[in-house]
Amino acid sequence: METADLNDYTVIKEGEAEILMHKKNKVFFNKAQVNNRDMSIAVLRAFISKRKQEHDAMLSKRARSSGKVVEKDVSEVSKEGAPTENGEDNGKTNGEEHEASSKDGSKEAAKTTYEPARRELKPPRVLEALSASGLRALRYAREVEGIGQVVALDNDPASVEACQRNIKFNGLMSTSKVESHLTDARVHMLTNPKEFDVVDLDPYGAPSIFLDSAVQSVADGGLLMCTATDMAVLCGANGEVCYSKYGSYPLKGKYCHEMALRILLASIESHANRYKRYIVPVLSVQIDFYARVFVRIYTSASAMKNTPLKLSYVYQCIGCDSFHLQSVGRSLPKHNSVRYQAGLGPVVPQDCTHCGKKYNMGGPIWSAPMHDQEWVTSILNGVKSMKDRYPAYNKICSMLTTISEELPDVPLFLSLHNLAATLKCTSPSAAMFRSAVINAKYRVSGSHVNPLGIKTDAPMEIIWDIMRCWVKNHPVKAQSPDHPGSVILSKEPSHQADFSRHVGSLSKAQVKKVARFLPNPEKHWGPKVRAGRQITSKHVSLIGHEAVNGHLNGHKEAAGAEEEEEEEKEDVVEDEPEMKRQKITEVIASSS
Ligand SMILES: [Zn+2]
Repeated sequence: METADLNDYTVIKEGEAEILMHKKNKVFFNKAQVNNRDMSIAVLRAFISKRKQEHDAMLSKRARSSGKVVEKDVSEVSKEGAPTENGEDNGKTNGEEHEASSKDGSKEAAKTTYEPARRELKPPRVLEALSASGLRALRYAREVEGIGQVVALDNDPASVEACQRNIKFNGLMSTSKVESHLTDARVHMLTNPKEFDVVDLDPYGAPSIFLDSAVQSVADGGLLMCTATDMAVLCGANGEVCYSKYGSYPLKGKYCHEMALRILLASIESHANRYKRYIVPVLSVQIDFYARVFVRIYTSASAMKNTPLKLSYVYQCIGCDSFHLQSVGRSLPKHNSVRYQAGLGPVVPQDCTHCGKKYNMGGPIWSAPMHDQEWVTSILNGVKSMKDRYPAYNKICSMLTTISEELPDVPLFLSLHNLAATLKCTSPSAAMFRSAVINAKYRVSGSHVNPLGIKTDAPMEIIWDIMRCWVKNHPVKAQSPDHPGSVILSKEPSHQADFSRHVGSLSKAQVKKVARFLPNPEKHWGPKVRAGRQITSKHVSLIGHEAVNGHLNGHKEAAGAEEEEEEEKEDVVEDEPEMKRQKITEVIASSS
């Protein structure tokens, strides 16, 4: 590169990678994505070490079994769940699935192709499907030990040019590991089935059009990392748009950000199922203004039959926001195998038993665990052991700590403020409410997507009884008798709540004084408008007026308090699209 060119650029360093940014191009680099990139690097490091462990375990298992039996029937080998099509061990989860499938019928198991194990584990190949400047690909190549080739794609010539420039700028290590191509990622993924151990999808907006090809391109046991920045859509601003993109109806509950993650997971699973594949989520996070999920993908026609058991519809009361999950499918034991049937329902009566109002029905969502807690622990430990190498250490560490404490088997959550708002009462403190739930012999945890979220396996009847007992000591003004709160309070509690402080009401993070929710470092931290684009109302509805206003005004104010940030985020989601258009028109009018 000629030095004359360099004057037009500024160097941006993140982690161990440096990129050149043209001085005129201010939106090409999104600083807020450092959390996303750091989290991805942490997951990649954990993936590489898990993959190695699984491979070693498979080799030693094979060595043991070859000592006992000289020749093995193909079906017997696959029943053990050890080999997959690329000869790698699928690990615990897949092993269990295969165990279950062998009950289902040995025909399926026998179909699994068996190839001799590769003794040598090749470094994982990574596909960065929408690479833009290439910063992410460069960070992977430079920072993740043991990583293989990183293929960076983009279908924008200017992005590919920038990416190739940045690869050179990062020196020999990068030029040998990272390659950049101008192509449509979908075509590349379709024509390279099961070729990549890791596929990273980080599109601007919805990833939906890339999912079908992405799930085919991931090797067995490989990792798909997928971002969705269209949170407004996933959170129910336009339910019908979400349905057309993801095949699931969102509900506007306080839990909508978690529902967004679960809609995304259900959508990926549905694409995978078309190719006799299924997903195992390892980590699902809602960071800043986007959703990011990390799932492993396996192939098994029989394990795939369990998919309807992992999906649920959600009934949410329009009066009191009580919600109930309706499983899409169920399984019944039959002799030595399993019979699959449609879900048994409805799980709720026509009218809400608590307040008498009707229900909205959303979903289907992924209702199986959205994190693998063992993974979360090892990712968190890995991050802590390499503190200096994560620019966003505090943020991702606090987030992983909160995730590690989430109840893994309780989808969605309640909002304490919402419960209090329904009854028009003051809210008990989170510690008091959590204590009352634990004293009633139920489990409770927080949620990483909302500081006020409460996950619990207590039925809604118990939750409302706790609130009824609270209101007895904190009376409310009388409302009209058909108000949902009045209907709920007209019943006497059958469970007497015990609000005495329980030691388990504090999260471990609180006890250890780890900050669980950190404010963003600056105002308007979040997705930016794609490089070189005019801002339209579409952008506003996609990323929210906050982000667009920030882009237009270039605000650099200090971040507000934690709860204010949270409120703002929800405002973005809950505003009607018309409102946003109006706001953006005002901004454009005032700036011109
Ligand atoms: Zn209700």
